[in-house]
Amino acid sequence: MPGLKKFLNGLLKNREGGMLYPKNKKSQASRNVAYIELSNVCNAKCIFCPYPQIAESDKNLQNMSAEIFAASLKKAMELGYSRLGFTPTTGELFANKRWAEHIAAALQQEKIKSLYYYSNAILLTDENIEKILALPNQQKIEKFCFSVGGSDAATYKKMFAVDKFEVVKRNINALCEKLKKAGSHLKINCELRLPRHDMTTQRTAEKTFNQAGYVNFYANIVRIFDPIGGLITENDLDYLPIITDKVDPCYRLNDIRFDANGNVWMCGCVVSERPGESSLLMGSLTDTNEHIQQKRQAVFAHWRAGEIPSACQPCRLYKAAK
Ligand code: SF4
Ligand code: SF4
Repeated sequence: MPGLKKFLNGLLKNREGGMLYPKNKKSQASRNVAYIELSNVCNAKCIFCPYPQIAESDKNLQNMSAEIFAASLKKAMELGYSRLGFTPTTGELFANKRWAEHIAAALQQEKIKSLYYYSNAILLTDENIEKILALPNQQKIEKFCFSVGGSDAATYKKMFAVDKFEVVKRNINALCEKLKKAGSHLKINCELRLPRHDMTTQRTAEKTFNQAGYVNFYANIVRIFDPIGGLITENDLDYLPIITDKVDPCYRLNDIRFDANGNVWMCGCVVSERPGESSLLMGSLTDTNEHIQQKRQAVFAHWRAGEIPSACQPCRLYKAAK
């Protein structure tokens, strides 16, 4: 009975780790993401984001070094991840001048099947657009996403707290125009984050940021935000409802995040690393894969025993792993 043998081997394997851990129900590798944070430095101060508070804290803000990137990519693949996210929890991808070189290296790995990122497009210069066009194996790119604050300068400034609307409008339009000219299939998502009562439509978003009519451009409107465990209290924003039922571990615990400083975390969402919050920190790149696996399995076991990590307790992005 090969099935029974596999089951018993699985039990032995877990016991060798020192403890029998329950398996997360939603642990198919293909659904999980390994986030690689090429930079934790940002050039905006969005009112829905804890970055302004993080920038004031003692967090080490820097671009990921080439050595840490190589070690992160290697570890992600060793741990079985085939889908990468280059969106930092807080930070801007293009702040790292070697971003394209690193993403190209990831796209060239046979074990990496797909990747995506979010950027605020402030540094989506013509030089960076050319780098996007030159990336290899573009069929592995799920989408490139750009996050903007509304479709006019005043709303943008309110949401992103920097005066960059005309810059991002130019940049995203220039990208769409060049992708159209190149006959590209690259999917571009543009997410407009809006304050309460702002009725900007998808159609307006398309007309503002995709004047060339690139066919693989999609606009989304985001009007609901996470208060990040109480850090964000803007009156002009609407928030996700509080979630009280968290019996099952969150499915995002299957994600892993390699931060710019060489630390390894569970979950890649912005809530997971707030100032003074490290309950989802699993270790560093110098730890063995076994150590990291044991740490993450312990978080699942503790959750099922009723001990929810402090990062997850107030989190409204929670979704049960079912
Ligand atoms: S939401 Fe993104 S762009 Fe805005 S401050 Fe935070 S990290 Fe920067
Ligand atoms: S509850 Fe929130 S912080 Fe915890 S794993 Fe889920 S998304 Fe991340």
